[in-house]
Amino acid sequence: MRDNGSLWERLAPPGPDCPPLDGAAKADLAVIGGGFLGLSAALHAAEAGMEVVLLEAEGPGFGASGRNTGFVVPSLKSALGPAETEALLGQPHAGRLLRLVAGSGDAVFGLIERHGMDVARARNGWLQPGHSAAAEAMLRSRLPKLRAAGVAAEFLARDEMRTLTGLPSLHGGLRVASGGQINPLAYARGLARAALAAGVRIHAGSRATGLAETATGWRVATAAGEVAARQVLLATNAMGGPLWPAMRDGIVPVTVFQVATQPLPGALRQRILPAMAPVADTRRHTFALRWTEDGRLVTGGMALPGPGRAARAARGFLARMRAFVPGLPELEAEALWTGTIAATLDALPRMVRLAPGLHGAIGCNGRGVALATALGRETAGLLAGRIAEQDFVLPVTAPRPVPMARLSGLGPHLWLPWSSLRDRLEARG
Ligand SMILES: Cc1cc2nc3c(=O)[nH]c(=O)nc-3n(C[C@H](O)[C@H](O)[C@H](O)COP(=O)(O)OP(=O)(O)OC[C@H]3O[C@@H](n4cnc5c(N)ncnc54)[C@H](O)[C@@H]3O)c2cc1C
Repeated sequence: MRDNGSLWERLAPPGPDCPPLDGAAKADLAVIGGGFLGLSAALHAAEAGMEVVLLEAEGPGFGASGRNTGFVVPSLKSALGPAETEALLGQPHAGRLLRLVAGSGDAVFGLIERHGMDVARARNGWLQPGHSAAAEAMLRSRLPKLRAAGVAAEFLARDEMRTLTGLPSLHGGLRVASGGQINPLAYARGLARAALAAGVRIHAGSRATGLAETATGWRVATAAGEVAARQVLLATNAMGGPLWPAMRDGIVPVTVFQVATQPLPGALRQRILPAMAPVADTRRHTFALRWTEDGRLVTGGMALPGPGRAARAARGFLARMRAFVPGLPELEAEALWTGTIAATLDALPRMVRLAPGLHGAIGCNGRGVALATALGRETAGLLAGRIAEQDFVLPVTAPRPVPMARLSGLGPHLWLPWSSLRDRLEARG
């Protein structure tokens, strides 16, 4: 089995027409990268009155935004509770980020509604069961602080979680009512349509190849043109390559596989995740599961590099699904694809000032459906001068390189076996 393209490509409505940049253009803001973050920033900046050009190397949603699992998760990674976030960011930023995250489900579903986007979705909450009794207790202990930060979370005991998921091996945990699931590529394309309607000029097939400072701002070059802009936002996430090396060196790119089964019998849909609330547990190597709008189950994760990696990933993730989901028929991996997560070592996103008038927003880790949408909106406020730097949700810092970022390809070799072993031992104990 080989990567045969994202299932979302088969299911999402076509994207809008975004002709490549041809010749010279001018704008207040040039956004580079048409994922959730760049598209949300461009849309909100245009709504704030800025003239915006967005350059996308391929097409809207080509990166992680069009390839992810589509979980709308209004909470940070499970290792990052309110106390940990405060220890890392201090106040007031920790409080601001937690409030942003708490409202990020509303940000996604609100935009879909407001702009009448054609996006398959279900908003019946997001489930985070513990993978062990200890993880269940940890989640329970976090509830008061999460609620205090505005997260619409409730604790479900193990039997309640089983009823909601149909998955007997999971423990109790959290349900966040404002979360849910979407077809992510349809959402990226919907954002692009909304941005176009707000006046953003989006140029697909227009990779930014160089950035030069000028007397009045920046000049962004592509193969067939250039944009002169007062400000530039780099929203290239894990795919920025050599354009601005400090951005690339600030994250660890992590390749993640996704597998979709064949359409499954309706009876299974009544029994497993009947409300179509997606589930992602607390394992280091998370077990995640959702239904698609055409009745397939999707799961995924990381796989060790090496020969036959894609085939191994497909077999491995279907076997893992079978271990969690009782009563499955013979499974086929009808779609297999990968995407790249921009991971930071503390699992927090970054807003970096690279030079006067040049910012980069990066590192939404595995939470970017909701978080990149909300962070893009806040970034537009910052760049439009509506939010002062000291009032921004994140500290606006110089880029911080990940130590030995260039060796990060070795990470999965070390991290995956170690974390999978710990997950297994914890789940048994
Ligand atoms: C397999 C997978 C599953 C995931 N599951 C979830 C999930 O269920 N829920 C969740 O919240 N998050 C999930 N994530 C994370 C989420 O997808 C990301 O955090 C989010 O999409 C990041 O959005 P972005 O706009 O920052 O980056 P991207 O979507 O990666 O966008 C970057 C864009 O920049 C463009 N680009 C790069 N270089 C240039 C250049 N030089 N010129 C012009 N354009 C350029 C790329 O083509 C790309 O379109 C998942 C990620 C992956 C990979």
